[in-house]
Amino acid sequence: MRKILKRYSNFIDSRDSLDSKVFAIILTIGGLITGISTVFTFVEGMGLIATLSTGLCCLLIVAIGFASYELGKEKQCHLLLCLFLNFILVPVTFFMCGGVRSGMTLYFLTCLYIIVPSVIDNRQRLVTFIVSVLMFCAVIFVSTFVRPSWVKAVDDVTWYYDVIISLVLNAICIYYMTQLTINSYENERRAKDALNARLEELAVMDELTGLYNRREMFERLGNRRNRGVAQKRFLVMLDIDNFKKVNDTYGHVFGDQVLSEISRVIKENLGQHSSEFAARYGGEEFLYILFNPTVEEAFERAEKIREAVYGIKYSEHEELHVSISCGFAEFPFGEDINETLKRADKLLYQAKNAGKNRIER
Ligand code: GH3
Ligand code: MG
Ligand code: MG
Repeated sequence: MRKILKRYSNFIDSRDSLDSKVFAIILTIGGLITGISTVFTFVEGMGLIATLSTGLCCLLIVAIGFASYELGKEKQCHLLLCLFLNFILVPVTFFMCGGVRSGMTLYFLTCLYIIVPSVIDNRQRLVTFIVSVLMFCAVIFVSTFVRPSWVKAVDDVTWYYDVIISLVLNAICIYYMTQLTINSYENERRAKDALNARLEELAVMDELTGLYNRREMFERLGNRRNRGVAQKRFLVMLDIDNFKKVNDTYGHVFGDQVLSEISRVIKENLGQHSSEFAARYGGEEFLYILFNPTVEEAFERAEKIREAVYGIKYSEHEELHVSISCGFAEFPFGEDINETLKRADKLLYQAKNAGKNRIER
């Protein structure tokens, strides 16, 4: 039994929209109720018509279920089932089970609750809703003032019990539908938030290195102002030495690993200052914006990165040491970034010419 319930719950969860979930639930509950009622009316000897009509309802629900899942016509079948419920089953049952002196008016509410999520289009939903309400009002009017003789009366005790049962069922329905709606909304919102976060990340990050991309780098440099902190700002331009040779010797895939290892080391050496960051400036070039009270300290930090990069051990090629050359320039607040970049680039060029694996300032 638990296994069946678990499978059923998985089946409901796998439905991708609220109306699809509701439809599967109505099919199950409708099928069960009409099936049990058929057996009940037969065993109790309530007459051929009662048995036949409940039996036919059960068959119809099974047929709609079959058509929706086997033939893939879920939307149409869902609407058909709701129309059948609202316009045939419930009105007929209303007359057969005591009219207003029964719990049927409460079942009208249940039906309305079910039909609302069944129709996706807003206007169609409103029309279906209004027509259903009018239909239920008409049924009550006819049974009370026009054809009271059509109503099959029930005794008072049956009436009270029916009201209690239908009230409880209606309450469960409202609770369940509300919960389903809130959960669906929450799940959708969570999925959307996660997607947005991922898209935001993709827009600012370089995929291979996990550092900011060039666009985000310029964005950050353009936005940041000196917030009155007694710190100087420096720009370090890093370029991997002889990287073409690394690629040619060990392959591009290994070259990518080198890029991501070096980026990891750069990230690990980011300082505490909230505006400090590193970005992938070009293919094998990086920029590092660092903050420090003194030039000496800042330069020491850049040196530490250069040494750490040289010290990286590559498990596939333990003998290999990949070095970087850097241009180290002060980046005063208010200075145009392009000016600083020009100076850093020149210094980097000097570092390359002076034998690489070094920083020029
Ligand atoms: P130098 O010491 O003067 O900087 O020499 P270099 O070989 O590092 O510089 P060069 O500009 O000649 O070559 C850069 C190489 O970086 C060429 C290019 O194939 C490689 N490269 C750029 N982006 C990537 C990447 O994303 N992955 C890999 N594997 N290689 C890249
Ligand atoms: Mg280069
Ligand atoms: Mg290079």
